[in-house]
Amino acid sequence: MKLRNTAIAAALTLTLAVTATACGKSGNPGDQSDKADDGTSSPELPKYPVNTSVDVEGSSVLEKLKGKKITIGTKADQPGLGFENPSTKKRSGFDVEIARMIAADLGFDEDHITFKTVPSEARETQLASGGVDLYVGTYTINDERKKQVGFGGPYYVAGQDLLVKADSSIKGPDDLKGKKVCSVTGSTPLQRIKEPKYGVAEAKAQQGYQLCVQDLVNGTVDAVTTDDSILKGYAAENKGALKVVGSTFSEEPYGVGLKKDDKVLREAVNNALEAHMKNGDWKKAYDATLGLSGAAAPTPPAVDRY
Ligand code: GLU
Repeated sequence: MKLRNTAIAAALTLTLAVTATACGKSGNPGDQSDKADDGTSSPELPKYPVNTSVDVEGSSVLEKLKGKKITIGTKADQPGLGFENPSTKKRSGFDVEIARMIAADLGFDEDHITFKTVPSEARETQLASGGVDLYVGTYTINDERKKQVGFGGPYYVAGQDLLVKADSSIKGPDDLKGKKVCSVTGSTPLQRIKEPKYGVAEAKAQQGYQLCVQDLVNGTVDAVTTDDSILKGYAAENKGALKVVGSTFSEEPYGVGLKKDDKVLREAVNNALEAHMKNGDWKKAYDATLGLSGAAAPTPPAVDRY
């Protein structure tokens, strides 16, 4: 876990530095047009050839989508993972790349993907109602959620951490007694931080992590808690003002959310993930998003075909 965190920290620092240079604070970390100060280009994002002979038999979701666009839910305010550039509306980040590679294997080119911003709280209902066909957005696989949705993957493993002001004395979850901590409704970190053993004075629930970051900057809360992968993006955006504590206290295996009973779709998603892990696209996508520093990508996790 330590090594991986260090790699991501370094990666995001450079990612956001490059982004800030190229397109201001709200730039696009995965944008290939980004150029570093020294004129060198960011690592290239892979291209995903579209599968033209997809067998949709037995998948209610894929059968319904024949000849149509696929709707993929994701986040829009998480630099390096799921980010939407407010001016260009371009989507970028590791989650977005994972979505694109799976969509290509399912027969959808870029013009046949509709990305939909869905907050943590609405993932299960959106998947169950068909509001989204897939969900790729820092979505932890767990048994509770498996009662409502299916999961492909995991495709990445993060860990819960804390974001605090640069001069804060909080060094880990044991220092949260009597403190105000912000997280997001419907997330595993919010649930965990409410456990009595942490003794927080208030667990504030917001709709998105960016709002928690504002609370932290304003001094309304003492810490923001969620996955280290997400927090590092915000720390890099607020360099010198905010820091990630760097003491993870959970495992968050990221899955691709899908309709609970569509086993054929789940198998197809897992096949796609394994193929792109094997052919090097997964690593290239990581290197061009979360890993822009050139720090070694972690070994991709083993897909769990439950
Ligand atoms: N991975 C955690 C979860 O799925 C936190 C991040 C998020 O809210 O998306 O709940």
